[in-house]
Amino acid sequence: MTISPPQTIPFVDLTWQHGPLQAAMQGVINTVITQGDFVLGQALEEFEANFAAACGNRFGVGVGCGTDAIALGLVACGIAPGDEVILPANTFVATLIGVLRTGATPVLVDCDRTTALIDLAAAERAITRRTRAIVPVHLYGQMVSPQRLLDLANRHQLIIFEDAAQAHLAQREGYRAGSIGLGAAFSFYPSKNLGALGDGGMVVTAEERVARQVRSLRNYGATSKYYHTEPQGTNSRLDTLQAAVLNLKLPHLAGWNQARSAIAQHYDRRLAPLADHGILPIQNDAGPGHVYHLYVVRVTGPTRRASLQAQLTAAGVQTGIHYPIPCHLQPAFRTLGHHPGSFPNAEALSQDILSLPMYPGITLKQVDYVVDAMVEVATAAAAAGVLQAVKG
Ligand SMILES: *Cc1c(COP(=O)(O)O)cnc(C)c1O
Repeated sequence: MTISPPQTIPFVDLTWQHGPLQAAMQGVINTVITQGDFVLGQALEEFEANFAAACGNRFGVGVGCGTDAIALGLVACGIAPGDEVILPANTFVATLIGVLRTGATPVLVDCDRTTALIDLAAAERAITRRTRAIVPVHLYGQMVSPQRLLDLANRHQLIIFEDAAQAHLAQREGYRAGSIGLGAAFSFYPSKNLGALGDGGMVVTAEERVARQVRSLRNYGATSKYYHTEPQGTNSRLDTLQAAVLNLKLPHLAGWNQARSAIAQHYDRRLAPLADHGILPIQNDAGPGHVYHLYVVRVTGPTRRASLQAQLTAAGVQTGIHYPIPCHLQPAFRTLGHHPGSFPNAEALSQDILSLPMYPGITLKQVDYVVDAMVEVATAAAAAGVLQAVKG
């Protein structure tokens, strides 16, 4: 490869975000230190109200992480052992872990090969008399169609609980992520579209009883001090310090998402010619409401993903794979009884997806560098293919 000058383009970079906010973050952290309300403090209540409002919803309950938001949120929605809960096989394992923690039976289904979102026709085929809920994952920042979800849920009396961990402020069909179902889970892991300085999560809901129960579950199952009514209670609260920082960042989130969207459009335009080489972006069916937590392409042609990734690494471009092993093939979940071939689309995607550098501070010039490197690799692979055909 002869790409010059050599650069290093990180997969995710938080310094662009934290640099300009550092002094302000120290200010709000100092306020919490002075107030001393480190657990269930004032900044947490403020952030819960602000974030729920940003989602177009009524209640937010801050918890320790997104995984706990899924587990506690589902329990608060009434999911219990004996229930079946439908979720996609191609998600981060935390979705499955959250469902398993309720004691309910997870029912994995395949995804759509072009959008990577849960296949709702497959979900419908998986419904039994015991199915209580569906957990759509708004994967990579693209919402699953709210209209189709609501239609399915209404016809079969299902609870919708959104995994919106990658979709802060995403929109589709007039709905915002976190406002379609009975409840929704968000994560504030540092690299998410809205990230804390550590772990954090939130359950968002329109139902006061769901909010009240999550508040109890996150606080040892107490409904008042030293009075415990929820056996599944645990200790999982969003720190006041983290809430203060998240509150400070929240007004910037819409702008950051817009930057992600502009970067995605630039990738789309520049990558279009590589379609002939079998390199295809994951399809956006949500339009401008896609918040691009990740920008993912499929590498399906003569260019092999492993070789593309290796050559991008050599050119200083960091990439990722989200996710290399679908949930049903993870050793931890063998007992669910699936095998290679169970979910062909999820498995095919796990083999050919590649996540390109994506964060609001990346420049279009850096994106150009990434795409130029990809063009070079794909062109060389095609030439090698032709050479092979001529020789053969
Ligand atoms: C990040 C993430 C989670 C888990 O959130 P944590 O805060 O890391 O526990 C769940 N689901 C999806 C789709 C995620 O991306």
